[in-house]
Amino acid sequence: MKAIAAIAAAALLWPCQLSWAQPQRDYPVKPVPFTAVHVNDVFWAPRIETNRKVTIPFAFQKDEETGRVDNFIRAAQALRGEPFANHKPPGYPFDDTDVYKVIEGASYTLSVYPDPKLEAYVDGLIARIAAAQEPDGYLYTARTIDPLHPHPWSGPQRWVLEGVNSHELYDLGHLYEAAVAHYQATGKRTLLDIALRTADMLDRTFGPGKQAIWPGHQIVEMGLAKLYRVTGDQRYLDLAKFMLDVRGPGSEQGAGAAYTQSHMKVVDQTEAVGHAVRATYMYSGMADVAALTGDVAYVNALDKIWENVAGKKLYITGGIGATAKGEAFGDNYELPNMTAYNETCAAVGNDYWNHRLFLLHADAKYIDVMERTLYNGLISGVSLDGTTFFYPNPLESTGQHKRSPWFGVACCPGNITRFMASVPGYVYAQRGDALWVNLYMGSTADIKLDNGRTVNMVQETRYPWEGTVKMTVNPDRATPLAINVRIPGWARNQPVAGDLYRYAGKSSSPVVLKVNGKAVPIKLDKGYVSLSRTWKRGDIIELALPMPVRRVLANDQVAADRGRVALERGPIVYAAEWVDNPKGQVRNLMLPDSAPLTAEFKPALLHGVTVVKGKAVALANDAQGHVSKTEQEFTAIPYYAWANREPGQMIVWIPNSEASASPAPFPAAATSVEAK
Ligand SMILES: [Zn+2]
Repeated sequence: MKAIAAIAAAALLWPCQLSWAQPQRDYPVKPVPFTAVHVNDVFWAPRIETNRKVTIPFAFQKDEETGRVDNFIRAAQALRGEPFANHKPPGYPFDDTDVYKVIEGASYTLSVYPDPKLEAYVDGLIARIAAAQEPDGYLYTARTIDPLHPHPWSGPQRWVLEGVNSHELYDLGHLYEAAVAHYQATGKRTLLDIALRTADMLDRTFGPGKQAIWPGHQIVEMGLAKLYRVTGDQRYLDLAKFMLDVRGPGSEQGAGAAYTQSHMKVVDQTEAVGHAVRATYMYSGMADVAALTGDVAYVNALDKIWENVAGKKLYITGGIGATAKGEAFGDNYELPNMTAYNETCAAVGNDYWNHRLFLLHADAKYIDVMERTLYNGLISGVSLDGTTFFYPNPLESTGQHKRSPWFGVACCPGNITRFMASVPGYVYAQRGDALWVNLYMGSTADIKLDNGRTVNMVQETRYPWEGTVKMTVNPDRATPLAINVRIPGWARNQPVAGDLYRYAGKSSSPVVLKVNGKAVPIKLDKGYVSLSRTWKRGDIIELALPMPVRRVLANDQVAADRGRVALERGPIVYAAEWVDNPKGQVRNLMLPDSAPLTAEFKPALLHGVTVVKGKAVALANDAQGHVSKTEQEFTAIPYYAWANREPGQMIVWIPNSEASASPAPFPAAATSVEAK
C-alpha cells in the first residue's frame, strides 16, 4: 500500500511519468503533483482534512441514500436478466457522475493517506459499476435499467439526444477522470479497464468516416486526454480532438445553441457564452488537446475567450456564470449581485481552466484569477464543517440563501470532494531548471525537476491572514535554478488583468523580497520575480506582501456595482453579514470612503478568520419618510465563510454614497433571527 502510494506520489497529476506512455508533446510547464506537496498550514490543511474525514464519507452516504449506487445495482440486474421491482430510471441521467466524482476525490486522498477501509469500499463500488456495463462497453444506467423506458432525456436509442441532454458522454468523462485517479492512487486497473472498454466503444462508433458527435455537456474531452496520457493510445486523443472539431455548425447534430457552446466552431469562439460549467470544461479540454497536439488555433480562441471573461464576466469573488437562466454567462458587464448564479462547479471549472492556461503561457495573470476563485467563490461552496453546500454563490442576500446537505442535481458536492483533495497540486510548477511558486501555503514539497534534480521546498507562512512567506530551498546538491516567485496581482495594484476592477488609491507599502537576508529588486516578468542563481541547501527566500484593507471599484459599465465598493485584504474578498453587525442588518449600510478600516484576527470566529472593522453609516426611513443616519460599528468577514450561521442579510458590494444606499424600510424590517 505504502509502496503504491509512493509510486503514485511521483506522478499523480501527470500520469505520463508513471505508466506506459510518455507523450511527445504536452504542456510546456508541468505542475508539481499534489502528492509531492504536504500542506501543514492553518488554512488549507484543516480543510483538506475535513474533506477527507467528513465530506467524502458524507457524499458516499448520500450517493447510497439517494439511490445513485442502487442505479448501478439495478442496471446489473437488468443485464443479468434477473427480476427486480423498481424499473424507474435515475432521477437524472447524470446521476452516475455523482458516484464517479466522489471515487475520484477518494482516490486522491488514498494517494496521500492510505486507508484500507476506504479503499475496500471504493473496490465494492467499482465492482457494482463493472456489473452495470453492457457487453460492448456502453455504461449508462439511465438506459440500461430499462432500455425500452429510459429516462426521457436519454432518447429512445443511444446517442440520439447526446447533443441535447442525454449526458451519455458527460457520464463517461467523469468516469475517465475517476478511473485515472483511482489507477494512479492504487495501481489497480479495475476502474481503468471499465473506462477503456467504454472508450474503445466510443472509438468504434465515432470519428472520421464513422458517426460524428459532440457532447451536449462537455468533459469527455478532458477525460479522453487523461486516458491518452495514461495509455499513450493515440485513438483517445484523436477522439477528443474530433469531438471538439465537429462541435457546431456542419456536424450531424447541426448548429447547436450558445447554451452548449455549439453555436459556432470552437476555434471561432471569442466570447464566453452559455452554461458556465459546460464552457469551462470545454475550454479545459481545448487546452489539454492544444498542449498534446500543438494546435495553435485552440490557444488563440482560448486567449480571446479568457480576455472576455477576465475583462467583462468575472465576479470579484472569482465566480462565473451570472444568470440562473441556463446556469449561464450573462452579457458583458452583466454581473448582478443578489441573483448572481456563480455555480460552485463553475468555480471549480474556472480554476481547472485558468491553471491549464498558466501551464500553456507561464503567465501569473491566470494564477491571479485562479487564486481569487479558490479563496473566495470556490470554497464558499462548502460549509466550514464540510456537510452543507451552496449550488449558487450570490454576492448579496436578504437571508433567502441557505446551504443544503445535498441537491436533486448533486454536481457541486462531488466536485468539492475532488477539488479540495487536489489543492496542493496548484502550489508549484516546473520546467527544466525553472520552478514557479504560484500559491503560498505552509508546506513541505519534494519537487522532482525535469532536469533530474530534486529540490525540497519548505514554506512557512500564515497566508492568507499574513503576507510574509519564508521559503527554504533545499536542492539535493548546489544547483543552478530559476525560482519564479509570483507577486500576486492584489499586491501589484491590479486585482485582475484588464480594467474590470481597480483598487481605490494605491497601496503605499512596497513588496519586499529577500534572498538570504538581502533585498532583491522587484523586476516583474509575467507577474513573477525570477531568482536565478546557484541554490544550495538552506538558502532562504523571504517574501513580504503588504496586506492593507483595500477598497475595490468595478468598471462603471457594471451597473450592479456603481456607487459601491468591495473590500479585500490579501487574496480574501470580504462580505458584511447580518450576525456581526448591529440590528442584524447590512443591506442598509453605507461605507464612506473616508472611514478607516482595520484588520483583526479572530481565532475563535468561523474556524479562525481575519475580520475587517470600521465605522459605517446605517440608513433607515422614519415614520415621516425621512432618512435617518446612524454611525455604527461595522464588521466584515471573509466572503467564503458567510452562511455558516443562521441565515440573514449579506452584502459584498457596499454603497459608498447615500445616493446608492438602500435605507431600511419603516417600520424596521424583521430579520430572520434576532441579532446576537
Ligand atoms: Zn454544480
